[in-house]
Parts: sequence; structure tokens; C-alpha cells
Amino acid sequence: MDPEIIKAGDESGNRMVIKYRFPDGVVVHGIGVPQAWQSTLGPTWSYVVEGDKLTLVDTGCNGSLRELEEGLEIVGYPLSAVGRVVVTHGHLDHDGNCFDVVSRSGAELWAHEVYGNLLGVSHRDRESDWRERFIGLPRTEDPEFEQRFLEHTNLGQKLTLTNPVTDGDVSDGFTFYYTPGHSPDELCILYNRMLFSGDHILPQITPHPSVNMSYARFRDVLPKDYRSENLYYGLKTFINSLRRVSTLGDDITVMPAHRAYHRGKFNPIGLDRALAIMEHHRDRCAEMIGFVRKETMDMAGMGEKPATRSGP
Ligand SMILES: [Zn+2]
Repeated sequence: MDPEIIKAGDESGNRMVIKYRFPDGVVVHGIGVPQAWQSTLGPTWSYVVEGDKLTLVDTGCNGSLRELEEGLEIVGYPLSAVGRVVVTHGHLDHDGNCFDVVSRSGAELWAHEVYGNLLGVSHRDRESDWRERFIGLPRTEDPEFEQRFLEHTNLGQKLTLTNPVTDGDVSDGFTFYYTPGHSPDELCILYNRMLFSGDHILPQITPHPSVNMSYARFRDVLPKDYRSENLYYGLKTFINSLRRVSTLGDDITVMPAHRAYHRGKFNPIGLDRALAIMEHHRDRCAEMIGFVRKETMDMAGMGEKPATRSGP
């Protein structure tokens, strides 16, 4: 069932406030916090959970604090009432307002333990070599993006992860699943029969997997137990993490950080979406293997030509 629209936004859901009411009486609000730069992605959905403490799952993009604050006021709370922030992963469109929310509310900051080690570490500096070779720099020339990117790294240096969690931790009704792949600190958070999926599972779009090569670039800043083997970056890691959550139950409602609403419509998903994303990658890999095989055969002059040799 679609959530109730408490405040309308634009057709991507920017500045929209929605209310999910589940059959067991649990209520969760979503706030569509816009990106601070030109983007076709739509907002980051920040979720408000009213438990023993007022909890925000993700705080939206750096530079969009005012929109987060306005949304929260519509739900009925000032920013200062937040008691706990849970971060799904440390990308600037998810934890971008953490510093302001935490400073103004004194809220606890919960995230995966890897998140704590990566706070204030510039991804761009560490990955510049391969990004330059394979993608080209700069990624965007939007000055707003550049400024937000730098500010996010700087603010990260001032943040302290007060409540690091690891896979399987359970606290105040939240169960944490460590699901690296899109990023090495990605968490999915189960609350009742809802799974806050960050960018691990999204409707309509396939999350970017991180890159295997990044492990070598970040290994020295990861917690000690994470330094012997790469189980945290790359497509294989991402697929394993999709498999991990895909079996949590047919009755789970996935609460994604993007595209919950797009082009004027809600996009409700369950965990079968995790299977669809796995299948997408499997198909793409099969296509690539087929392509490479054909190229190799063409180069060897074997192409589609019928065999001309016979006998031993
Ligand atoms: Zn995101």
C-alpha cells in the first residue's frame, strides 16, 4: 500500500513528507531531502522513527539541512529533538547533515564500525589514480558538488561515531546487517518488518558497486580485522551482500534511500528486488564474457568461419 502524502513535493519527491502506517500500528515518516546540486537522482529519503528515542535514518545531502529541518517540523519535531542518527553509509548524500544535526541535538551517531574509520578520509584523493585512468577526472564540474564534496570530508573529521555497530547487533528494536558492496560501510537496518536499505537495494535503478581496486587504497585506514582480505569492496562483495538480505522474508517492506517516489508515483519494493539486481549483474557479466570470448576468437581468426581442418 502506498504511504500517505503529508506534504506534497515535486514529481521526484523533493521536499515531500510521507507517512507509512503498518498493520501492526508502527508509523514511520519519510522526508525527501533534495540533493544540493543539479541531479536526476531525486531526493535522499531520510526516515523518522519514533521509538524510545527519536531516530533519523540518514540525514540527507550536505547543503540541504534546511529542507531536512522543514520536513522534520512537518512531522512534528524540531531538529533538536533527534536522539539518534543512524547512517546507512558515509556518502555525502546520506550523512551530509550529520554534523549539524548532531551538534544541534546532541544525538548519538550510529553507523557501521568501518564508517568511523573512514570519517574525514577523502575518497577522491585515494582513488585519483584509477579514477583518472578509467573514468576521467573531475567527475563533475558543478561547483556546488565540488564545494559539498570538500565540506563533507572536512566535517567528517569533526564527527565522532558514538555507537559503532557490527553485523548482527540488535538494539532498541533495530537489527543491523552489514552489507558492504555499494560502499564498504553499508548497513541495512531491520525495524519491525521494514528494512532501511540505504543504497544497497533501490527501486528502478541499480546501485553502483564499489571497485575491487579501492581495497588496496583504503586498507590502511580500515579497522585492523579488515586488513587481511578484501571482503568489503567490489561487485562480488555487493552480490554476496544482496544474497545475504534476500532471505529475510517475503513480508519485508524495503525502505530505500532513493526513488521511493519518482515521476509522480510510488515505487514499493520487497526483497525480490535484491534478487532482480543480482540477476542484472549476472546477465551483464555473461554478456561481457560472451563479448570477450568473441573478440578473442576473432583475433585468433577463428570467428564464425566453419572449421576447415579435418581429422587429427
Ligand atoms: Zn545515495
